[in-house]
Amino acid sequence: MNEQLLERLKSFEKSVFALGHAMGVLYYDGNTVAPKRSAIVRGETMGELSRMAYELTTGPEAVKLLEDLEAAGDSLDPVTKRKAVLMRRGFDETSCIPMGEYVEYVKLQTESMDTWKKAKETDDFDLFEPYLQKMFDFARKFALYRNPDGDPYTTMLDSFEKGLTAERCDKFFGDLKKRLVPIAKKAAEKSKTIDDSPINGCFPVEKQRILSDYLMDVIGLDKDRCTLGETEHPFTDEFSKYDVRITTHYYENMPAASMYSVIHEGGHALYELGTADELAFTNLGRGVSMAIHESQSRFYENIIGRSEAFCELILPKIKEIFAPQLADVGAREFFRMVTKVQPSLIRTEADEVTYCLHIMIRYELEKKMIAGEIRAKDLPGEWKRLYKEYLGIDVPTDREGVLQDMHWSDGNIGYFPSYAIGSAYGAQYLREMQKEFDVREAVRTGNIGKINSWLEEKIWRHGSMIDPCELFESICGPLDANVFADYLENKYC
Ligand SMILES: [Zn+2]
Repeated sequence: MNEQLLERLKSFEKSVFALGHAMGVLYYDGNTVAPKRSAIVRGETMGELSRMAYELTTGPEAVKLLEDLEAAGDSLDPVTKRKAVLMRRGFDETSCIPMGEYVEYVKLQTESMDTWKKAKETDDFDLFEPYLQKMFDFARKFALYRNPDGDPYTTMLDSFEKGLTAERCDKFFGDLKKRLVPIAKKAAEKSKTIDDSPINGCFPVEKQRILSDYLMDVIGLDKDRCTLGETEHPFTDEFSKYDVRITTHYYENMPAASMYSVIHEGGHALYELGTADELAFTNLGRGVSMAIHESQSRFYENIIGRSEAFCELILPKIKEIFAPQLADVGAREFFRMVTKVQPSLIRTEADEVTYCLHIMIRYELEKKMIAGEIRAKDLPGEWKRLYKEYLGIDVPTDREGVLQDMHWSDGNIGYFPSYAIGSAYGAQYLREMQKEFDVREAVRTGNIGKINSWLEEKIWRHGSMIDPCELFESICGPLDANVFADYLENKYC
């Protein structure tokens, strides 16, 4: 009987995968090479495909399949059992929301993002303010549908990172803040003597493309399954372990920007490419959560990419590509340039040390918004107050302040903590890895494969088989902000 059931599941998975694949390719195309006005037709096609996906995953056939899988219970193999668990979660998250409200929300989401873009362009917070308030109101309402008795903010965190709670976040950020504020101050003071003008000259994009190609090889990306495109805001689009697209953006006067985008997105790609073959084309054949994903990308970008050993490894090739530029720069100097610490306004451009302070500000604000302690109209002022408190800087405009990120406009509330937690996870991987081999030496000698194998064995191959907190703790024990703070202190102070 199970054989028939497994066949039904397989055919269902095939359809779900095909729709996701098609939408993913369209999204990638739209953000890289498609002509500007193609948005009109792409919007229509995406709308139609997502309607088909909604019907497919919530329709009577899906419900029957899910019930049959659950009824089969322990007679199922562990992989199939896990598939059913994730199907159930996805189904419950959507189906508890009344259809009318869901449609209203999806419509508002599009308008809200559109208005945010305009508001950011014109630095007009008032234009966006009513949408922002509504997005928070919806998020709160939906969280209460999902878990009427729970804390709504915890429910939101849990939908991005299964098992994460406001309580755990409070403890993590509380511990981190105590350590990070003095570390950032000290590191910024030390950075004042760094002259990074040699890496901010003119570096032709053509040559930067050659560098990207080289970096993909260095970190071990399989170019038969992963390609690099160009876009405004770099992202990774993963359809399957056989097709991952990463992107970058080239600035002629800032080669480090693209360099670290390639390594960051490359980290996301390695994770997807490393999932086990038998999980491909199913709901398990992808990274399990946002924080685990960011723990891979930020690990490669900062812990590996911004290490002195990595600078030693790649500098000769960089000099060769851009010759005669940088001829006089040594590895130590290059390392100092790419690890310069400076409090800044924009999260995505922040250095490794101050980055998490940007996240804490967002965390504090979204929690207060969900608790009803502040309203959208209070956000610009609160933003400025917290930037002064955490980073010691004045925010001159809202476009460089509260309007800079797209997350809230898109309804992604409870998502920001994943970035900081992912960064901290990375430091704990490093500590565990060090117990088994000399990571610095592996990097210095170009043996990144050793690091990749470690991560593949412990994390990548599992795809979504194990919930994120459980997966992390099985490798590193509990999350400990102090391990991350120690790593930063050693590196920067
Ligand atoms: Zn990322």
